[in-house]
Amino acid sequence: MATGYCVKCKEKGVNLSSPEIHQTAKGGFMAKGKHEKCGTTVCAMMSKDNAEKAVEDGAKKAY
Ligand SMILES: [Zn+2]
Repeated sequence: MATGYCVKCKEKGVNLSSPEIHQTAKGGFMAKGKHEKCGTTVCAMMSKDNAEKAVEDGAKKAY
């Protein structure tokens, strides 16, 4: 499950609904989704390992 920081709720580790995993220009990985509770778009940087794991867990691969 991909998690991130919601700027609206000021809450860490929130679950992202329908997360997409993107690759940044610098070669890093990023999860992008919506906070389940409030619908705000949440982005989270992640390692390659975590990105691949999130894709295996059902996140959409967008790279
Ligand atoms: Zn939120």
